[in-house]
Amino acid sequence: MKIHRLKLNFSNVYLVQGEKTILVDSGMPGEGKQIINAARQIGIKPGDISLILHTHAHVDHAGSSAELKRLLGIPTAVHVADADQLRRGRMNPLTPMRLEARLIKPVVDRPFPALEPDLLIDEAIELSRFGIQGTIFHTPGHTAGSISLFFPNREAIIGDLLMGGYMGGNLLSSQPKHHYFAEDLCAVRASIRKVIALQPARLFVGHGGPLDPHTVVNKFSREIEFQM
Ligand SMILES: [Zn+2]
Ligand SMILES: [Zn+2]
Repeated sequence: MKIHRLKLNFSNVYLVQGEKTILVDSGMPGEGKQIINAARQIGIKPGDISLILHTHAHVDHAGSSAELKRLLGIPTAVHVADADQLRRGRMNPLTPMRLEARLIKPVVDRPFPALEPDLLIDEAIELSRFGIQGTIFHTPGHTAGSISLFFPNREAIIGDLLMGGYMGGNLLSSQPKHHYFAEDLCAVRASIRKVIALQPARLFVGHGGPLDPHTVVNKFSREIEFQM
């Protein structure tokens, strides 16, 4: 099993390659062909991709899902609590966490091609159906339907639960930070705690990264009581 990170203009998407390959998130609108080309370059054919799985339904993670579903003819999955954002092609109002977030808000607060999800995640989806060994965890806070993925090699994809670095992850990308936006900061903290309790080896995030879990514990130990 291997996790390939594709760094797009604004966000990361991941190709998780096992028996088959699943695509985790789809970037901004109009990035579908770029994702397919990048997959080809690492030897993953379009026909190998079995599922588009969303860490959450924000424009920079679900923007090209409708296009990719059309091009690849594969199902899409999202947590039930984020499904309406995907159906509308419009995010819930963003709550900025700090000044930088206010500056970035006009860039990301825009509509995207709507999509009716094929599978609604309520923690019970078997990824083995799609040729991948891994477990889905509900890690709400950034959005109510944010999920994380945990794989047998102890690597995890946690979406926008945290981000790496500054300037959208382009600067000091291995430094853990709160994301620019959170629907519920208390829930974010509880979800970070849940992820760390799984003792992951490495955390892949939606912007910047990857993150070393030890740096996450150090950074947030004053606001989160970790169970070590
Ligand atoms: Zn997001
Ligand atoms: Zn994002």
